[in-house]
Amino acid sequence: MNFESELKKGNFFISECNQCNKIVWPPSEFCNQCLSNNSWRKCSGKGIIVEFSKKEDTYFAVAEIENSVKILGQIVSGRPKIGDQIKITDCGIADDHYFFKMIILD
Ligand SMILES: [Zn+2]
Repeated sequence: MNFESELKKGNFFISECNQCNKIVWPPSEFCNQCLSNNSWRKCSGKGIIVEFSKKEDTYFAVAEIENSVKILGQIVSGRPKIGDQIKITDCGIADDHYFFKMIILD
């Protein structure tokens, strides 16, 4: 499993500890809490907005995914409020940076 090659294809995987079930971020083969092996699973892509900003006509938000991983992404539909539920609709790597696009769920 290679996190970045999957992300490039638009698949957002997360690593989760087999022992203590912690979601480990940045993604890793090993748990940073109990040093057990992690396994990989596809992320639900669902999260909550914890912060947002607007640049020109585009909103960007920090979202907490699955109550643990914080990512920065662009909001492609809707106007964000803190606490809104979002879903990641696209992700990848551009110019050596991870990017995420998200929509706001009703
Ligand atoms: Zn662990």
